[in-house]
Amino acid sequence: MPFSIRCIDCGLITSYHPNDLTCPNCKSQWREAIYNYDTIAKQLPDALNSRTFDLWRYHELLPIHKSIPSLRMGEGGTPLIRAVNLGLMLGCNNIFIKDERQGPSASFKDRQAAVTIAALKEAGITEMVAASTGNVAISYSAFAARAGIKLWAFVTSLVPAVKMREIALYGSQVIKVTGSYDQVKKIAAEFAEQRGLYHDMGARTITSVEGMKTIAYEIAEQLTEEFGPPTDGSRWQTPTWYIQAISGGLGPIGVSKGFHEMQQMGLIKNIPAIAAIQADGCAPMVHAWKQNQEEASAVVNPKTHIETLATGTPGRAYPLLRKEFKAHQGLFESVTDEEAFRAMHVLAKMEGVSAEPASAAAFAGLFKLVRAGIIKPNDIVVVNCTGHTMPAEPLVLGSGWARNVVLPKEDENNAETTPKEGEGLLAALSRVAPDRFPRVAIADDTPDARRLIRRILQSQGEYTIFEASNGREALELVNREHPDLLILDLMMPEMDGFAVLDALKNNPDTMHIPVIVSTAKELTKDEKDLLQGQIQALMQKGDFMSDEFLEEVKSLIR
Ligand SMILES: *Cc1c(COP(=O)(O)O)cnc(C)c1O
Ligand SMILES: [Zn+2]
Repeated sequence: MPFSIRCIDCGLITSYHPNDLTCPNCKSQWREAIYNYDTIAKQLPDALNSRTFDLWRYHELLPIHKSIPSLRMGEGGTPLIRAVNLGLMLGCNNIFIKDERQGPSASFKDRQAAVTIAALKEAGITEMVAASTGNVAISYSAFAARAGIKLWAFVTSLVPAVKMREIALYGSQVIKVTGSYDQVKKIAAEFAEQRGLYHDMGARTITSVEGMKTIAYEIAEQLTEEFGPPTDGSRWQTPTWYIQAISGGLGPIGVSKGFHEMQQMGLIKNIPAIAAIQADGCAPMVHAWKQNQEEASAVVNPKTHIETLATGTPGRAYPLLRKEFKAHQGLFESVTDEEAFRAMHVLAKMEGVSAEPASAAAFAGLFKLVRAGIIKPNDIVVVNCTGHTMPAEPLVLGSGWARNVVLPKEDENNAETTPKEGEGLLAALSRVAPDRFPRVAIADDTPDARRLIRRILQSQGEYTIFEASNGREALELVNREHPDLLILDLMMPEMDGFAVLDALKNNPDTMHIPVIVSTAKELTKDEKDLLQGQIQALMQKGDFMSDEFLEEVKSLIR
């Protein structure tokens, strides 16, 4: 038998059929797939060398007898991208983005759908029911379409309309329910029971957990490629942290199973700490964790705009994750919708990665944990960028993100007349006046430092930015442009920051321009005295992501 199912409550081992939803002995719905780990451990690492980089490369660790090539769409095998700019901003050297946007339907739900639909196909099942906050239904719909399986997708009326239309586009039946996600799950379950249909059970679905665990295997292989094999006798590297935004918690349940299997097989040494991030307005697990409770009470009316994260009743997922997090230094944390939206801008503007708000919540969590000193500068951090299905909801951009150009109407009766001077496209474009954004001058002799400050500011709002690469240039720049704020490095060639400051403060035209001094080194008492009363703030380099710096900038240019 290549795999079996073990009940996590009574330990009973059975064979697998997708329609058996409970343990025949104790009726538990929490069961997991187990494999012949000893045999697999011996041959897997070498066998992998010749396999394609998608999730089926771990097929002997998946509960499918024979994978079905015609169902595949390149699921899994997503890139692990080093986040160089975020790393510089946060003062962390090893931040990686596991880019799950690059799955076939643009979210990590593709892993769960690929493995589950393959199991259903293998078992001859032709119709299924799933409740969803959007992405599960999209992924299932895509794979169900390939497999010829009919999907009934139950969604809450809060799921963005574009997501609902995408579900329908794949040919699934969308059932829009006005109610919370937890109510939708109940209705979907009843519907499935009445009709005797297969029903997705979220984190209790064996194949879904198995699909998600492949993220862990890929991360271990990819980090090994990045850093080389570990020196502790094991085969693969592991991160210090795995960070993910969670709703029902399926992702971390699968990922931690993956790491534990690898450890059992001697492929890795350490189990990473998992940081599970919820939205403040729907954070039942975070509340329970912070109060050290064994069970999480339900959030009946989730108050978050991030519908994907709006699971109010975590059920058994919470105690399971809690046990895992206690054993391996993991944690639950929450972020506000605003923090998630801000992180979304930062991620797009600094790393070129446009993710949906739910994914951005994980990055907001990262920022929070770094600031709190919980994530350390040398920790290896992998953040799951879970999806990209709905990148720019109106809410996220606010108004004014596009400039409108209205062209003068063409005269239909007289199309040949040449446009009069001052009309047409160029004239219309010239009326798109540049907005008056706050003007910030950055004086620093290191181009990287200037670029970093520029990026950070631009990721947080609209600024017109000027740069100078030495003291003399800085002085000329400030005299010419009269910026609203000067960010000044102290150690610069030709004329240092102290001299620039002196000159500015002795000129009535420039003496009122606020100055933030940035410095790489600890200042002496004399130096600090020199700056006293002359500047608005003193920043240590590496502190630029602190709220303090951004608040300071905003307050000075108001
Ligand atoms: C489902 C989903 C989550 C939450 O994942 P769980 O592990 O099921 O809690 C986060 N982000 C995106 C984009 C999702 O689709
Ligand atoms: Zn049992």
